[in-house]
This record gives sequence, C-alpha cells and structure tokens, in this order.
Amino acid sequence: MSSLADLPLRDDLRGERPYGAPQIDVPVVLNVNENPYPPSEKIVADIAAAVAEAARGLNRYPDREFLQLRADLAAFLNGDGGQDLTAEQLWAANGSNEVMQQLLQAFGGPGRTVLSFAPTYSMYPEYARNTHTTWVPVQRESDFTIDIDRAVAAIEQHQPSLILLTSPNNPTGTALPLDVIEAVLQVAPGIVVVDEAYAEFRRAGVPSALSLLPRYDRLVVSRTMSKAFALAGGRLGYFAASPAIVDAVRIVRLPYHLSAITQAAARAALANAPELLAQVDGLRVERDDTVAWLRHQGLAVAESDANFVFFGNFADRHSVWQGLLDRGVLIRETGPDTWLRVSIGTPEEMRAFKSALLEVLDA
Ligand code: PMP
Repeated sequence: MSSLADLPLRDDLRGERPYGAPQIDVPVVLNVNENPYPPSEKIVADIAAAVAEAARGLNRYPDREFLQLRADLAAFLNGDGGQDLTAEQLWAANGSNEVMQQLLQAFGGPGRTVLSFAPTYSMYPEYARNTHTTWVPVQRESDFTIDIDRAVAAIEQHQPSLILLTSPNNPTGTALPLDVIEAVLQVAPGIVVVDEAYAEFRRAGVPSALSLLPRYDRLVVSRTMSKAFALAGGRLGYFAASPAIVDAVRIVRLPYHLSAITQAAARAALANAPELLAQVDGLRVERDDTVAWLRHQGLAVAESDANFVFFGNFADRHSVWQGLLDRGVLIRETGPDTWLRVSIGTPEEMRAFKSALLEVLDA
C-alpha cells in the first residue's frame, strides 16, 4: 500500500496536517467552545419527529434552495439586530466553516488576497490555502483590538478581495466596535465578512454588524448554530448579505449540499430558539465570573464577548495545559504562545477548572 508521501498530492498540501483540536476523553472538556448544555428531551423529540418526516422523502434529493430554512433564519436574525431580512438574503451550509469556504471559492482564488487580523481563527489560512488565495494576516494591537489607521493602511496596501473580521474574535474573545467595521467597509475594495460565530454571547450594549447590512451591500455577516444554539453536531452555519452575494455563492456550492436531514433538524431547532438560547445568559455570567476570577489570580485576561476566555502570560503554557489535562480538564493551546483559551462550561466544570488551575499554579 502506498503512503501519503507517495501520492501525487498538490505540492502546497505536502506536509500539511488535517485541522483539529485533540479529541481526548476526559471528564471536563473545555477546548472547542461548545455549549455544555445538551438539548432538552422536548427538543430532542421535536428534532427526531422532524427528521422522521424528512426520512419519508429521502428517495428524493433535498430542496436545493432550502427557502423555508432560509426564511426561518431570517426571522431569527430579525429578532437579534437584523432589519427586515428576507430568505433571499440568507444562505446556509454545513457549519460556518463551509459557508466561509464557499465565500473564498466565490470571491478569492489565484491572484487574489484575503486579509484578516491576527491572532484569529486558525481555519482562515486553511480556507485561503484550499482556494489558492493569498493569506495576509495583519497584527492586532497588544490588547487584541484593531487600530483603525493601521487597518486602513493595510487594506490600501494589499487591496484584498476579501477581508475577514471576527467579532467576537477567536481565540481572544475581542468584539469589534462598529466604527472599526465601518472604517474597514469604507476602504475595502471587495467583500467584508464579519464572522459572528459567537455574537449571541456578546455583553449588553455590544452591537452586531447586522445593523450595518442595510447600508453596505458588500457586507456579509456570518453566524452559526454550533455555539449559542448548542447544535455543533447538527452542522449548520449561515450568513446574511445582499441577494447578489447569495447568488455568487450559489454558483460554487455543490448541488444539494444541505441534506434534507440537516434542513429538518435545523428548522426544528430554530422553532425552539428561545429554549435553546435560554442557557446563553447563564454562560455569559459564568464567563464574566471566570474573567474576574482569573484576573484575581494575577493573570492577564483578554476582554471577552464570547463563550471562552483567553488568558496568560505563561512562560511555559504547555506545562500548564498538561497539568490541567493530568487533572482531567482539557483546554486549548492556541494563539500567541504564552496564552491559553478555556471554553465556558457548566458551573461544576468551571469549579473543576479553577481548582485544577490553582493546583497547577501552586506546583
Ligand atoms: N468561526 C469562528 C470564529 C469559529 O471559532 C468557528 C468554530 N470554532 C467557526 C467559525 C466554525 O464553526 P462551525 O463550522 O461549527 O459553524
């Protein structure tokens, strides 16, 4: 049998590894920003019934345009900062990762550039690689904010076809003020994507970029059901933008990319949005408590509007990560190399994290 090294793999993929955090079976899993609360039995039953109904038609291909799901997503966003969004302005795929890759396929490509602000989500360079788009990361400030003048200068220099703004940002938790997003939109020569995967966790008074959609027709705001909706296993990401941007993505999407099962499960989940999102307030309180507690231990902690907290500075972060793992708590080594990221879990999980961290710091 030939090994990977013997295969005629694309030159730029040689030596690359599949992306993914370690999947380690430990009692306290706080490493991939999941929602710790599974759906209730009532929601499980609703999803199961919707999937059973969809199964009766599985001999047929699914609705390629999934307009009912897109209408449900528009209705949800209109209750969370969206203004009169319609199904034609919504698009969805198997996770916001797929949505973003489709955007890169449509608007990136050879000879084109995608610009973002690092440290940021580590999948972005992989979408760029997969679509042969040049990746330009511009450094954030030391507090992980974006300086408007530096951002504008970088955009004018690189003339990117796409700009990825992440708000709240992963792994830092930093949300962007609207004036930064607008300053970028005003000089951007192409598409501006605001990745709001964690938007539902933002603190009171922090705006969503959805409010800018009526004024900027090259703005895309992406969201996911993986985090606040507690539906990471369902794989449903989506965006709102102008109908023309949706038309562009429809050119590159694979036919029937969203299965009838996925559409049915997502619609059943959306019908239960208030209950699914009910845990978000509790997670925000737990997040704010975690920030305050870590600061009280004398650690550096980034401001967070997400369901995770980024903290440091550790001369040897790996030993801290390993010490926590030895005590049954899995967090994430990502971003600048003196920092660690912990996802917000249940109160019991956060107690386990805190007591393990105290032991590790004492040792
Ligand atoms: N964007 C950001 C900033 C993320 O952190 C993630 C997941 N970690 C995603 C997009 C993708 O999430 P999903 O594909 O589950 O929607």
